[in-house]
Amino acid sequence: MNATALPIPENLERFPELHRALDAQAAIAEANRCLFCFDAPCTAACPTHIEVPRFIKKIATGNLRGAAKTILDANVLGLSCSRVCPVDVLCEGTCVMSRYNKKPVEIGRLQRYAMDHYYAGGARISEARARGSGRVACIGGGPASLACAAELRRNGYAVTVFDNRPLPGGLNTYGVAEYKLRPSDSLREIEMIRGMGVEFRQAAVGAEISLEEMEREFDFIFAGVGLGAIERLGIPGEDLGGVIDALRFIARYKTSGDLAVGRRVIVIGGGNTAIDAANAARRLGAEEVHVFYRRGELEMPAFDSEYDHSKVEGVRFHWLAQPVEIVGRDGRAVAVKFAMTRLGEPDATGRRWPEAIAGSEFEQPCEMVIPALGQSRVTEILRSRGIELKGGLIVVERASGRTSNPKYYAGGDCVNGGREVVDAVADGKRAARAIIASMKPEAMRG
Ligand SMILES: Cc1cc2nc3c(=O)[nH]c(=O)nc-3n(C[C@H](O)[C@H](O)[C@H](O)COP(=O)(O)OP(=O)(O)OC[C@H]3O[C@@H](n4cnc5c(N)ncnc54)[C@H](O)[C@@H]3O)c2cc1C
Ligand code: SF4
Repeated sequence: MNATALPIPENLERFPELHRALDAQAAIAEANRCLFCFDAPCTAACPTHIEVPRFIKKIATGNLRGAAKTILDANVLGLSCSRVCPVDVLCEGTCVMSRYNKKPVEIGRLQRYAMDHYYAGGARISEARARGSGRVACIGGGPASLACAAELRRNGYAVTVFDNRPLPGGLNTYGVAEYKLRPSDSLREIEMIRGMGVEFRQAAVGAEISLEEMEREFDFIFAGVGLGAIERLGIPGEDLGGVIDALRFIARYKTSGDLAVGRRVIVIGGGNTAIDAANAARRLGAEEVHVFYRRGELEMPAFDSEYDHSKVEGVRFHWLAQPVEIVGRDGRAVAVKFAMTRLGEPDATGRRWPEAIAGSEFEQPCEMVIPALGQSRVTEILRSRGIELKGGLIVVERASGRTSNPKYYAGGDCVNGGREVVDAVADGKRAARAIIASMKPEAMRG
């Protein structure tokens, strides 16, 4: 598994970056807006607890490498997080500036400024504080496993990351929208982690290597397997040509250069993944992109900032409509038949369930359909090792990430059901620290 194994076409023209980088003058001016709060709420709000005022102070004094080091000490994926974190609901959302009716300090862009400088100067993380001689395997090569692997390696332990895809990085490489994070940026972080001495192997755990084999080879196993494929709609026509689920669609445009979209595209779903797919379809040339969601605007799970941005991209939204059939001609999708819905009583989760209204069906013509429902679970292989699952997610002790089998730890989307990159990083780091604390004394060199 090698960063140069696949050509990664970058669609710079169609996917210019959402947030432009700060230049030196703007970065210093922005850094000097920070009040350098003691007990800073932004540090508490960041799941990886980056010491935000500390790194911003270093930027203000021109110590960019020091700023990057402060970031990386807490969050080894500081580069990708600076681009993908929904900062308005995390660090920037708590900035005290808003108490004075001022714009929050642009923490994400300042973090990016420091990290870009660091990578431009040839990123190398400090050598391992050599200590341990234990061996750990991480299943999955996404943010959770990368953070776990880096933290273990920094402490001297041997780590092997197993991922079943040609390139590591999980959704950072294959899923997050290209105008936020380019595959090459994800791969730059992986190269840095590889440079720390983490080994990467391409293998499907459970199929090409068994958990029993891994248990013999490794002292501990961290499961960062994420979530699986997009759930099927379960309606006629789903296998027609021109129907491609949102994750496959995003992965394809990000890594293969296969960019053909229809003139009219229908996206089905109301989450951030639906929005990312819809925006990408617009930028890839679709004249009309329609997002259909079976509940109302208020119930839509996508972040407000993502929704607002999508409207600027020219995506059209339709509420209270659920698909009942994908209509085909000559083997290809030509329309989606929808039924209007009304929202019933709240269910056990507190969400109001949509009920189809009889006789309300209508057809929306299209050349491409992108289902973007939730993701399936890929944890079943762990059950045979006595690991407790609930609703397909791995049950862990929150503070350590330890599963019901003490040899196994877990974190990221396969535990939390799908949150943000920074949450996966925090989980991986926390689990690594707990693994280190559980290593047998003979696995420690002092
Ligand atoms: C379309 C989309 C857009 C997103 N955009 C954002 C965003 O803008 N900002 C943000 O913060 N978050 C975003 N997220 C969420 C974020 O990507 C995830 O929370 C994060 O990637 C979770 O990391 P993870 O390591 O738990 O899992 P993943 O990133 O999913 O990585 C898991 C890896 O494990 C591999 N794997 C699974 N099973 C096996 C096995 N048996 N053997 C070997 N390998 C295996 C998978 O192939 C995958 O590479 C987005 C998610 C999606 C779907
Ligand atoms: S990692 Fe994300 S949440 Fe944490 S300080 Fe950086 S941008 Fe904010």
